[in-house]
Amino acid sequence: MAEIELKGVTKRWGSFVGVHQFDLEIADREFLVLLGPSGCGKTTTMRMIAGLEDPTSGDIVIDGKRVNDLDPKDRDVAMVFQSYGLYPNMNVWENIRFPLKVRKVPEGEHADRVARAAEMVELTPFLDRKPAALSGGQRQRVALARAIVRTPKVFLMDEPLSNLDAKLRVSTRAQIKNLSHELQVTTIYVTHDQVEAMTLADRVVVMKAGVVQQVGTPTDIYDNPANIFVAGFIGSPAMNLMEGRITDGTFQAAGVEIPGFTGVDGAVVCGFRAEDAAVAPDGTGEVKAPVYSMELLGDSTMVTVRAGGALVAVKAAKDFRTKIGAPFAAHVPRDICHLFDTATGERLA
Ligand code: ATP
Repeated sequence: MAEIELKGVTKRWGSFVGVHQFDLEIADREFLVLLGPSGCGKTTTMRMIAGLEDPTSGDIVIDGKRVNDLDPKDRDVAMVFQSYGLYPNMNVWENIRFPLKVRKVPEGEHADRVARAAEMVELTPFLDRKPAALSGGQRQRVALARAIVRTPKVFLMDEPLSNLDAKLRVSTRAQIKNLSHELQVTTIYVTHDQVEAMTLADRVVVMKAGVVQQVGTPTDIYDNPANIFVAGFIGSPAMNLMEGRITDGTFQAAGVEIPGFTGVDGAVVCGFRAEDAAVAPDGTGEVKAPVYSMELLGDSTMVTVRAGGALVAVKAAKDFRTKIGAPFAAHVPRDICHLFDTATGERLA
């Protein structure tokens, strides 16, 4: 059991606010991802939960108990860092065993538990090696094994995949997802990679400049971004965002005319996702502009045009072909559009 509660957690250094008034309840066994660009306060939040950093104000509660004044070792959390944090003079077996020693788990249990953890992350053949003789992916798995060798209340993972190459990142990501399913331990996972967040999380917390922007399931956040920042951060490509005006129910911007908006008038930002739009072969779409670029993605072709003051992507069929500068039209009906307030960036509809 481990429920975690953050109550108005704030971290300041002088006048600089690293994390501002963070409120959140994390359920037992939940896989929560903190997502945001570099410097938004993800690591600081995690370090405060681990006890490696003191909050300036606010409370951190684990299983109903305020832990602000507890040492890291008394919080029963296991951390995995992007830098692995392995001991270079110990071999893999000793590295994985280390937390058992520190926690004074009876010696007799060590061999079994290390063997089990190593097997879960497929490290059994490497137990005799020192970290220097391992690849980045193998080192990362040693760090994972060291975290799972005892069952802590909480796993904290700080960008554990960021030092791995693209292919290894995908396979290790799947392994983490599988492990978390098997171990059923509350996990907080920090990343700036929205694909990692979407694939791993039960819920995602999107942060910007120390402030929580939105909390929701990956689907919530993808389908109903709370503001322009979230819309522009989630998805690959991110949501298209066009600046324009609604007059008499029609959104207008350079190369764009979308009717059907009622109850909103004036300057707005209109967003839509590349995959929700459709190529209009007869040239009669709501978005019309010359092709800026065409990218072949294998399963589809991404066509980009300049519209509403921005580059706007439309996902076309895999065999769709056009040329830079050729006329292009796409169906972008009202019902696939998201509206945001130009001034505040908040979602309108
Ligand atoms: P990254 O993805 O780059 O690791 P992050 O979202 O994890 O970024 P944090 O490491 O939490 O960001 O840092 C949040 C902000 O607080 C940053 O602007 C950082 O420069 C600042 N910060 C972190 N530690 C300190 C410190 N000890 N003193 C002053 N400012 C700090």
